[in-house]
Amino acid sequence: MSNSTQHLGDVKLPTAGLSGNFINGEWSKPIGGKTLDVINPCRLDTITSVGAADARDIDAAVAAAKAAFPKWRRRAARERGAMLIEFGNRITAHAEEIARLLAAETGNALRTQSRPEVASTAEVLRYYGGVIAEQKGETLPLGPGLFSYTTREPFGVVGAIIPWNSPLVLAAVKIGMSLGTGNTLVLKPAEDAPLAVIRIAELAADIFPPGVFNVVTGEGLAAGAPLSQHADVAKVSFTGSHEVGQKVAHAVADRIGHLTLELGGKSPCIVYPDVAGDTQLDTTVNNIIAAMRFARQGQSCTAGSRLFIHETVWAKVMPRLVEKVNALKVGDALDETSDIGAVINAERYTAVCGFIKEAIDAGAKVETGKLPPSTADAKGYFPTPVIFSGVDNTWRVAKEEVFGPVLVAIPWKDEAQVLAMANDTHYGLAAYVFTNDINAAMRATEALDAGWIQVNRAGGQIPGMSYGGAKQSGIGAEYSIEGALESYTSRKSVTYGI
Ligand code: NAD
Repeated sequence: MSNSTQHLGDVKLPTAGLSGNFINGEWSKPIGGKTLDVINPCRLDTITSVGAADARDIDAAVAAAKAAFPKWRRRAARERGAMLIEFGNRITAHAEEIARLLAAETGNALRTQSRPEVASTAEVLRYYGGVIAEQKGETLPLGPGLFSYTTREPFGVVGAIIPWNSPLVLAAVKIGMSLGTGNTLVLKPAEDAPLAVIRIAELAADIFPPGVFNVVTGEGLAAGAPLSQHADVAKVSFTGSHEVGQKVAHAVADRIGHLTLELGGKSPCIVYPDVAGDTQLDTTVNNIIAAMRFARQGQSCTAGSRLFIHETVWAKVMPRLVEKVNALKVGDALDETSDIGAVINAERYTAVCGFIKEAIDAGAKVETGKLPPSTADAKGYFPTPVIFSGVDNTWRVAKEEVFGPVLVAIPWKDEAQVLAMANDTHYGLAAYVFTNDINAAMRATEALDAGWIQVNRAGGQIPGMSYGGAKQSGIGAEYSIEGALESYTSRKSVTYGI
């Protein structure tokens, strides 16, 4: 791998932020002096390196956040909100620069993924900036001689840990909810994609009072674990894998802390028999592709990766689906013509290839796609979108989160049976239903165990909607004012005798 960044063209790197630690309003290098390389997964080049923090840096960041909390919690909610709006506006003003950086580090295509993610990031911050003044309590009619009311109190220091697949928008959700509600924050981005988060932290450096918003870059075990275990972190908000989520939950339980978990999914996509006319078939196929998040290499927690097609429309849906998926262009994330970029790193690429090979060896029918080159032969971690049929719902490829562009299609004829298959997973994050039959849609949405069900739509989250997983996909909800109040504040009851 080369250390040259000239191949990145007009991608502008963060400056002060490369040191890694933004603590108490100042950028600094980690105490241990360690760094970690950030790799462009399309070009297998080192983009740059950033600080790699350890427990000592986490201690310093948490101490700064703790010291800043008493004043911050007393600021009027609308003042905190105004700062979030200013933050969102600055991101919009630098949108293209941030999107290019995001595409370079994540491998998420600039046109289809990275630009829209930057726009959503600004939108989330402005949303919380606007609604956070609704941090209201209740008055209680407890009877004569009593006056009782509640207030919504922040917890203190929030530790937020995020993954690499959509790092900016996830950072914005944690920032908006925690700072808006009067908590202070220590945010740890993922080691594979810290640069765009660092860049927006640079833009925020003079918005929030020192210590209110802190960022610490580093690896999971060295930096994430001490943050989740820290006695002065009142709440942890974690988005990531089921395995790490379990460890974080244990650490938080040891001190009876507060916790939000946004974990993985294996979401079903159900096509009903009435989806038959040409226009509706076309729209549904576009939605199936969007639900599978093919354009993000399938690296989405809400990916609709199990496709159940009614047997009477299978022969109409499948050829169109294959044709449209084959038309997607896989290529460099910074190339305007690319629809799909690269898988984040060698480990994930190897795991995705492992799922594909195992399914082929077990006799799955390949409707489209193929096993990509081995990690050693790959010139970039470019996947090939794959659609399998001839797979049973119990196979590993149909049960586990591949987190790659691999879709499993299964025909169905009995509604009760397909709904049972759809629910036959420990996950419960998202689900997609395609039908014009209102009764079928209502039966399906009632029966499906999922935190978010979309009917005849397959887009991303929109600020204002509560989003969170059922079953083992998570605990708590984010993206909404209700989620922020439920997950980032506690009720204080005050009762007066009159
Ligand atoms: P991951 O769990 O490996 O890493 C997530 C974060 O946790 C990273 O910042 C990492 O450094 C940190 N970490 C790793 N080990 C840790 C430890 N022992 N203690 C504390 N922190 C630690 O996940 P990933 O591979 O980066 O992301 C993919 C996963 O995230 C998928 O399972 C996906 O479904 C999930 N995800 C969920 C949502 C959601 O909203 N539900 C959104 C995006 C991604």
